[in-house]
Amino acid sequence: MDKLREDLKNAHKLAKTDSLTGIPNRHSLDEMIAEHIELAKTKAETFCMLVIDLDHFKNVNDKYGHLVGDTTLRYIAKLLDAETKGHDRIARYGGEEFIILLNKITYDNALRFAENIRNSIARKSLHIRGHKDPLHMTVSIGVAMYQIGETQDQLFQRADKALYAAKAKRNTVRGEHQL
Ligand code: GH3
Ligand code: MG
Ligand code: MG
Repeated sequence: MDKLREDLKNAHKLAKTDSLTGIPNRHSLDEMIAEHIELAKTKAETFCMLVIDLDHFKNVNDKYGHLVGDTTLRYIAKLLDAETKGHDRIARYGGEEFIILLNKITYDNALRFAENIRNSIARKSLHIRGHKDPLHMTVSIGVAMYQIGETQDQLFQRADKALYAAKAKRNTVRGEHQL
């Protein structure tokens, strides 16, 4: 019985984890947003959403191959994971897109947080075996704040619109009020 319970627990965890990067997957993200919305309603705690997209990631696959592309995704996931603490949450949303939920934070501080992440990724580089030049990655980030009463989709759409605006320059953070 204990073994069965343990197996079930592991299966549950596996279903919520992105197999490439080891961080929570999109399915898990839906639950995490729902939890944050519940907290916002009951405790009037604001939260913000960051949508993070790697810039020109296709070029990495084209130049170094898919396996190095995968390594790059793991590298970025690890870096983002290290930046999130406490009740903040991170997930891999899609191919080269990540989402961070920041709990109990103002819009301005969420923008600052995003800017720190952008800057820290831009400053670092990744050594690729067999290549002399290190790989420099940048990200674009869209930021939006949850408004009580709205749905997950409404929040995501605003953050995604901000990301779209950031993509005009790349290596840039845009908030929903900076469009
Ligand atoms: P942009 O700056 O506009 O975001 O350009 P981009 O190249 O990052 O965006 P685009 O959507 O054109 O390409 C995304 C690429 O991400 C294409 C796809 O092959 C790659 N990709 C998605 N998931 C994975 C994955 O799991 N592993 C690898 N290696 N590549 C992936
Ligand atoms: Mg993308
Ligand atoms: Mg991209």
